[in-house]
Amino acid sequence: MPKVLIADKINEKGIEVLEDVAEVVNNPTITPEELLETINEYEGIIVRSRTKVTREVIENAENLKIIARAGVGVDNIDVNAATEKGIMVVNAPQSTSITVAEHAMGLMLSLSRKIAIADASVKAGKWEKSKFMGMELRNKTLGVIGMGRIGSQVVKRSKAFEMDVIVYDPYITEETAKSLGVEITTLEDLIERADVMTIHVPLTPETKGLISKEQLLKMKDNAIILNCARGGIINEADLYEVLKERPELKAGLDVYENEPLEDSPLTTLDNVVLTPHIAASTKEAQRDAAIIVAKEVKHVIQNETPTNVLNMPLVDSETFQKLKPYFHLSEKLGQILVQTTTPNISEMNIIYGGNVSGRAKEPLTRELLKAFLNPILTEPVNSVNAKSVAQQRGIEITEGETDNTKHDALMKIDIKYDDKKMTITGIIENNTPKVISIDDYSLNMIPEGKMGIIKYIDLPGTIGTIGKILGDYKINIAEMQVGRESEGGEAVMVLKVDQELSENAIKDLENTEDIIEVKAVTL
Ligand code: NAD
Repeated sequence: MPKVLIADKINEKGIEVLEDVAEVVNNPTITPEELLETINEYEGIIVRSRTKVTREVIENAENLKIIARAGVGVDNIDVNAATEKGIMVVNAPQSTSITVAEHAMGLMLSLSRKIAIADASVKAGKWEKSKFMGMELRNKTLGVIGMGRIGSQVVKRSKAFEMDVIVYDPYITEETAKSLGVEITTLEDLIERADVMTIHVPLTPETKGLISKEQLLKMKDNAIILNCARGGIINEADLYEVLKERPELKAGLDVYENEPLEDSPLTTLDNVVLTPHIAASTKEAQRDAAIIVAKEVKHVIQNETPTNVLNMPLVDSETFQKLKPYFHLSEKLGQILVQTTTPNISEMNIIYGGNVSGRAKEPLTRELLKAFLNPILTEPVNSVNAKSVAQQRGIEITEGETDNTKHDALMKIDIKYDDKKMTITGIIENNTPKVISIDDYSLNMIPEGKMGIIKYIDLPGTIGTIGKILGDYKINIAEMQVGRESEGGEAVMVLKVDQELSENAIKDLENTEDIIEVKAVTL
């Protein structure tokens, strides 16, 4: 049975998922030295944040297929090193969505009903009923910035409070907005209309400082702003200044520009509720994270496709089924290219047509590169590292799309190698991959078995000479197709043969006048 290491303490429900498919070694106190020494034994490792999966560890991990983080952040994993080595890195981003959404609701109620400050007052021996006049959430406008996993859970919960929801998220579609019954608007409009504003976007160069003094000053009287996403999305110094000037405004924060929060003036304000980055901390989230990543590990050790791979773009399983023949086509074209050119490729341009477009391109390109690079490299190349290995080898890869095809699915690959060029075009017909051209010569051949690709000058007798030489070597031609530029010009012959083209047969063919190049291909 494959071995899986649990290197940090995870919920036992996760361990149970793996018990019947792997030998699980549960060592949540493993030291960095022990990890380095033993990692070679494992196909999978599950960590939380304690264990550091460094480049050194990854370089020693000859059998490792998957590194799983039972949680969200992967700062403790060298994802680049894993990618280079072809190891998948997975996490469980969905495990905390409800937990964080509930925390946002908690902060919202705490501020709208002044719960935290009232609690402190009662505990200080006071009874200041009139000081804590609150605000109902019913019929108030909730502005959600970022409606991804967490944002949409906040939307659902706010509906139970009879709130009206407006959303700012330039990346979601009208349909998603409709299905959740929300109105999409601009950031400016949201800030001006929201009674409660809650942030659920990732921290990116675009969202850093998204809310600063200018925006905060435009907030409605009595409005509440919440940040359970990442520190830095709200400019903290500006927030302090505005909250101090406008005590009727309120803020609830779980995340900060610098954590842990030290000597922050925000802690001196009554109109702020602060929690120490605990929005994702519930037992349920930890249990779910353990189960989710254990299932991912189980999939990978059983050679199935996981869903949350961080270092490889994935398609959902329905699309994957639809794309299966195209993966097959990609693989065959990659194999033909590697056997007919040299590894010195400098450029590869892949054009997709028909229904192979959009997100499907990326996994197909990886499949092509995998088939192309695997035979020429000693390190294993897989869908995770195919692109980074190609880039390390200096291959410039471009991908494009064309509408100009009558075929359901088309892949046209142009490569530059040494000082030469090659073009190959493949299609899917009746779920079967076919090569329809090599360079400018039209063909119609299912790429399979033992083949020969011969470039020659289209003169009377050349085809006969080829047949004769192959006959001399007892190589039987099962199928033959020829394509030519023009009469008497360059032509290509693609043969399917029952016996492989031997080195001597190739040499004899190449020594024949009018034969330009001969390549043997086995698929
Ligand atoms: P997600 O990727 O599912 O959703 C993010 C949403 O933000 C997407 O819909 C995206 O379209 C939108 N978005 C991206 N850039 C935007 C922009 N410039 N303006 C408006 N919208 C934009 O992410 P998620 O899982 O919902 O997480 C949301 C945030 O919560 C992240 O910052 C994450 O790191 C944070 N988080 C915090 C905790 C915690 O402990 N406090 C725990 C988990 C996640």
